[in-house]
Amino acid sequence: MTQSSSTPSISPPRVTTLRMSEIYVADQGEGQFAGTPSVFVRTTGCNLRCWFCDTPHTSWHAEGETQTVADVVAEVLQHDVEHVVITGGEPLIQPGIVPLTKQLQAAGRFLTIETAGTLFRPLHADLVSLSPKMSNSTPDESPWNLRHDQLRHAPTVIEQFRANYACQWKFVIDKPEDLAEVDAYVTSMNVPAEEVWLMPQSRTPEEVHEKTAWLTGEAESRGWQLSPRLHIEQFGNIRGK
Ligand code: SF4
Repeated sequence: MTQSSSTPSISPPRVTTLRMSEIYVADQGEGQFAGTPSVFVRTTGCNLRCWFCDTPHTSWHAEGETQTVADVVAEVLQHDVEHVVITGGEPLIQPGIVPLTKQLQAAGRFLTIETAGTLFRPLHADLVSLSPKMSNSTPDESPWNLRHDQLRHAPTVIEQFRANYACQWKFVIDKPEDLAEVDAYVTSMNVPAEEVWLMPQSRTPEEVHEKTAWLTGEAESRGWQLSPRLHIEQFGNIRGK
């Protein structure tokens, strides 16, 4: 049937969705809330391709189903857990993250958003956990090596987050020589020492221990914090932990 020009058009209700990887309860393994029981909401898809990505099922080989925001909220609220960590992948690539965070914060949850800080959206968040990617993250594979390097450093986006949210900064360190670039970044961005966390690049408990041994002094000498990676220390790099 053809609609007459005098009939007001009625838009169907907008259903907002997210492409999801997994939702699970575990202790936060990193940063200032390490050890805090949390519901992890892991979206899938990322605009970067770090060679050391510890969730390749959300980046290099993104997998997951599309869910409505309402279904994600309902699943999170089934758990009587105050802290919710929105992570990825890169959660900011999906617009559905905005209504998701709005509804979860309205429900009284404490929200941490984990992001590499390359895209800004007007989130609802109690803490934005920024993990800017340094040149030590660039993969060898073409064309991702070029794309990754073009996107990974977005200082104006970082400034938007700083202006609007409480932030912590996590820098992934693989080798001692990685520290010079982080020193320069922290200085140029004027990041307060108490907000800086160094994190050992690791996928096994042995790597965590080996890198923590030399990173501890590096962090202390700068007045920075050393982040544990509790989930890797306890379980190795397995999903849902
Ligand atoms: S930004 Fe995070 S999710 Fe994306 S590739 Fe790098 S480590 Fe993986």
